[in-house]
Amino acid sequence: MTGTIEIDGSYGEGGGQILRTSLAMSLVTGKPFHIENIRLGRKKPGLLQQHLTAVNASARISQAEVEGNVLGSKKLYFAPKTVKPGRYHFSVKTAGSSTLVLQTVFPALLITHGKSELLLEGGTHNPYAPPFDFLARTYLPIISRMGVKISATLKRHGFYPVGGGRFNISIESTGKLSKINILKRGEIKRQIARAVVAKLPRSIGEREIKRIGDKLMWDRRCLHIEEVTNSAGPGNVLTVEIESEQITEVFTGFGERGLSAERVADKIVLEVKEYLSAGVPVGKYLADQLLIPMVLAGGGTFQTLPLTRHTRTNIEILKQFLNINITSSQLKNNVWQIEVRTK
Ligand code: AMP
Repeated sequence: MTGTIEIDGSYGEGGGQILRTSLAMSLVTGKPFHIENIRLGRKKPGLLQQHLTAVNASARISQAEVEGNVLGSKKLYFAPKTVKPGRYHFSVKTAGSSTLVLQTVFPALLITHGKSELLLEGGTHNPYAPPFDFLARTYLPIISRMGVKISATLKRHGFYPVGGGRFNISIESTGKLSKINILKRGEIKRQIARAVVAKLPRSIGEREIKRIGDKLMWDRRCLHIEEVTNSAGPGNVLTVEIESEQITEVFTGFGERGLSAERVADKIVLEVKEYLSAGVPVGKYLADQLLIPMVLAGGGTFQTLPLTRHTRTNIEILKQFLNINITSSQLKNNVWQIEVRTK
């Protein structure tokens, strides 16, 4: 099909992000695309419920023509029409990540003039996906700084394997994003560790935050436990939040069978120490997620940790949709700078 962008879903990182970035960029550019080898780099390749929900959500907001949108499909054709802001309800029927469904439709709603009210259901706290807390405290505040009014409210936690979480998000766009540069972190203003335990013993959370306190030498006032009773299933998530002058970063770990509470905390401690010692503002997950908004704003620069395969892959997929310059350079041992510029 002429004018259709051809994407190889097994390229680079080979996961769901290639599909989501393609959908997001197709929605914002109006360009149709065809993707093969969807998630070939994963144990269960093809469209899982979460990815199918993202495809169908993208089709809903743009009345797109779609082929291949069935569970397990490894190929898809997607041709959007006009993106319409509005009230939408997108539900992942499994514990699949609902924040990743948002990640797919969000860019188009950010740059389409109008107001949207979204209700998303599914997992809200999943490993390998942005947890709601990261969305609310790291990602959305940056997007707000780019000139869009946004608010997000968690209604119910959704954990693997039961899911059933939900959150609302409202987006009021003027149709434009302003450029931002995130080059410095600034002074640390607040640091918090929060263990959430849902339908599980409180002692798990107590052990987690104690370990964080011991290893990071934090005062007890920085350590919190939240007991959640309204989730559909059990779950445990530990987050560490570093609020600096320029940015808040959220680091996350999940309790799982066979993994001690101390080990959950230790993994986060390593990530926090790596982030703090590098002195950069943008953590490794935010780095791949900032690329699309910066491309839509027509530019921006940020400093971050060494680039992940997600970030490198995302850069290449973005270049297939738009004639844009994205350069990355290593400034110091653990410090990289990414610059987005229109050609
Ligand atoms: P994929 O593995 O291709 O489905 O993409 C996963 C997405 O989730 C990427 O955008 C990651 O940056 C994001 N992600 C994974 N883990 C975290 C985390 N702990 N905090 C924030 N974002 C995350």
